[in-house]
Amino acid sequence: MSATDLQCPLPSAEISGKPQMKTSNNGLIEISGKRISNIKADAHKAGSNLFSALETNEAGEISVDILAAALRRQGIHEDDPRFAAAFRALYAHPGPLTEEVCFELFQESFSIVERAIKDRFIIPRFYDFKDQINEIYAQCRGERGGRVADYIPQLARVDPDQFAVAVTTVDGQRAAFGDSDKAYCVQSSCKPINYAIALEERGEKFVHRHVGREPSGRSFNELALNPAGLPHNPMINAGAIMCCSMIKPKAALADRFDTVMDFWSRLSGGQAPGFNNPVFLSEKSTADRNFALAYFMQEKGAFPKGVNILDTLDFYFQSCSIEVTAHQMSAVAATLANAGVCPLTNERVFSNDTVKNCLSLMYSCGMYDFSGEFAFTIGLPAKSGVSGALMVVVPQVMGFAIWSPRLDALGNSVRGVAFCRELVNRFSLHNYDNLLNQQTKKDPTRRDAQHRGDQVYQLINAASLGDIDEISRLIAHGADINAADYDGRSPLHLAAAEGRRDAVAFLVSKNANCAAKDRWGATPLDDARRHNHPELFNFLASSLDPQEKTQ
Ligand code: GLN
Repeated sequence: MSATDLQCPLPSAEISGKPQMKTSNNGLIEISGKRISNIKADAHKAGSNLFSALETNEAGEISVDILAAALRRQGIHEDDPRFAAAFRALYAHPGPLTEEVCFELFQESFSIVERAIKDRFIIPRFYDFKDQINEIYAQCRGERGGRVADYIPQLARVDPDQFAVAVTTVDGQRAAFGDSDKAYCVQSSCKPINYAIALEERGEKFVHRHVGREPSGRSFNELALNPAGLPHNPMINAGAIMCCSMIKPKAALADRFDTVMDFWSRLSGGQAPGFNNPVFLSEKSTADRNFALAYFMQEKGAFPKGVNILDTLDFYFQSCSIEVTAHQMSAVAATLANAGVCPLTNERVFSNDTVKNCLSLMYSCGMYDFSGEFAFTIGLPAKSGVSGALMVVVPQVMGFAIWSPRLDALGNSVRGVAFCRELVNRFSLHNYDNLLNQQTKKDPTRRDAQHRGDQVYQLINAASLGDIDEISRLIAHGADINAADYDGRSPLHLAAAEGRRDAVAFLVSKNANCAAKDRWGATPLDDARRHNHPELFNFLASSLDPQEKTQ
């Protein structure tokens, strides 16, 4: 595994909940969310030679097309809201581009350009990853089992062969396959979103006074409540109707629906969702079971005071009739993966706590009566819908949307589930795959990127503190001793700079690379010299290979 395989952004302080220094999505250095300086800008002014990695002219300049292609390779596209204005300006710029001009035009988002060119996103070598997803897509296309939902004519009439897959990472890398620009109804995949909106608005305590959080073990529309007379959880119909009752209950129905539409738009990076009125009208006219559920809950006194259940049901049917493309839905899933911050706009849409609760219930209850099996075999939070929609979240890494209308006996998209099976077969994305460490046969360059990233920083931190117990624990758990941080600083660099003699000796005994260079070209030896640790300098010098000494 090369050092590049291990480049990951620092885990966000907000995600881990610990106040710490972090590099934000746009490359600015923040401490506990507070921006303190822009080292990328300073580094750039000092001359970063970034474009030398691209096809330049003799003056070291590049064309807009070369830059756009370099970004596209890593999954960053010109329609990304973070870049739209910069690209307009780039295309208007006469002649080739210098790094300085690009820096001026991209401003804060220049650090994303830098990370793309240096291959430092959460999914490195995105082009390879994309090829693999394309292979899985092609493999699942042959799957023709299952039947489209036919409880309303609008769903019964959809072309069953349609198939879309889209992915968005927490860095905003994107790829889409098949019918990813066709709109489909979200159906039950509105449930986690409405639950999250209710949590944001009313708080966890209030919401869970009216809806449970246990899997029901029964079908999604079963006429059943838990022993307390409440819906079992927000991912089945009764619970979803309950969540609708808690979103802006005093507002006009139009405003309540606007609120939900606005959330979908912000979750997907500013793209407005659609609404399928025929589906809404059909849902409403065939909804005896949902009416029965609402009256049953009313009889049990489950709703908050003053709820109008007919309005609530309309609101629920409207939510199910929202339409998105797989491309949009993958951004929604990525926002959940990114702890509620949309990676395409950097806007916080949901709080960390809301997302934590939402993902927990998606994990235990998101796939109807297949939820336990899905959690066991796939190990990721997900939510399906009868339209063949499936949203899958890889926390802190990426979100997938799969859409294919043929359903299995339990109501999940046949191709959607097949896609997930092959996804975790190839990549270590199951929630507990990171326990396997080096014993896994899965693609080593794709192993749980976030876990790997955490290990890198833990090891660097332990090295700088000279904590040998922690260093050996991390190595025993598979941490790569020569992995480096965003600036190319390895554990040995840090131990040498801090004068941690025992840690330096230990790292060297474990074959740490004494000649590793950081982004400024400095080796651990240089660090020992610069920080005035002559013994360490001599020790490191004597540990260098004769070949390295001559370099
Ligand atoms: N509109 C459907 C219903 O309430 C949604 C159910 C689903 O996607 N499972 O019955």
